[in-house]
Amino acid sequence: MSEATTPRFRSVLDRFAAYKPGKTVVSADGRSYKLSSNESPSGPLPSVLEAIGEAARQVNRYPDNNATALVEAISARFGVPADHVAVGCGSVGVTQMLLEAVGEPGAEVLYAWRSFEAYPLLVSLSGAESVQVPLREESHDLAAMADAITERTRLVFVCNPNNPTGTVVRRAELEAFLDRVPADCLVVLDEAYREYVRDDEVPDGLTLYGDRPNLAVLRTFSKAYGLAGLRTGFMVAHPVVAEAVRKTMLPFSVNALAQAAAVASLSAGDELFERVEATVKERERVAHVLRDQGWAVPPTEANFVWLRLGDRTMDFSAACDARGVSVRPFAGEGVRVSIGSPEENDAFLAVAGDYPHRNV
Ligand code: PMP
Repeated sequence: MSEATTPRFRSVLDRFAAYKPGKTVVSADGRSYKLSSNESPSGPLPSVLEAIGEAARQVNRYPDNNATALVEAISARFGVPADHVAVGCGSVGVTQMLLEAVGEPGAEVLYAWRSFEAYPLLVSLSGAESVQVPLREESHDLAAMADAITERTRLVFVCNPNNPTGTVVRRAELEAFLDRVPADCLVVLDEAYREYVRDDEVPDGLTLYGDRPNLAVLRTFSKAYGLAGLRTGFMVAHPVVAEAVRKTMLPFSVNALAQAAAVASLSAGDELFERVEATVKERERVAHVLRDQGWAVPPTEANFVWLRLGDRTMDFSAACDARGVSVRPFAGEGVRVSIGSPEENDAFLAVAGDYPHRNV
């Protein structure tokens, strides 16, 4: 009999902790403002709720494994052929599918750091090694990233806008970077926050991938479309990439309610557009007020702002918690604060204004 007292796990699991989602806090007087997960502050549109209700009548059946109606709706809405589209359980699900398709021992996956928390975790799980290139002035250092590519690099993430800093890479620098990436290395342009971008110089990945068979574009229904709780995202890429990625999908991982809601939200049009516009306006207001209060805020094109706080990060986060405002702290670095409703944003701005220190 074996001496071991517990089952044995892959050694890679010792290298990281389980993903930690944004928290929700409640103040002593019962107030709670959740600005820790970059969600939409608005509940589902009536047309979306109706579609979910309709789909719920048939949950005794498995969902469409190919998400045919959703893929067709994405194809029509974004003007891309259906065989260029792969869907997954959130764009994080598609990220995992991509890494399953390329990751193996000896492979390297390159990305800027700090960036989206799920990258290191999913890279490790795939068997590949992470290579992290530090941000420069809160932005991707694409020249340093290109220099860090080796013959073992199989995938590069470019998060645009970057989570958690909100900063962007612009067309000229992105194209120059893409020109330096070998054809057998995938570049994944993670555009989870694309709908909030107002800087014309930031390219839409969907207009770039056609000429570049190694470029995959990731989008999500969790942010601007307000469907975080249902878990759907998608990738648009060359059909060879889309086919490889589809092979790694856990069967039925995009559930029927998510498929129906995503289809309905793609035809919601103006109502959703107005909500996104309101968030963009609030973002500009929040950044402006923070700067007036004396804070340094990097320019952001996403639905959040970044405050670099170094050693004061956890202290500032605790000050927010005490007033029921949940933000996302990264110990020793800074906090990311989502843009919520005007009331939620005011609650955060009041804490920031009262805090006895600034970050400059
Ligand atoms: N990419 C980035 C950059 C993100 O910030 C997030 C969510 N925090 C995701 C992908 C994943 O979103 P989802 O899985 O909800 O589609």
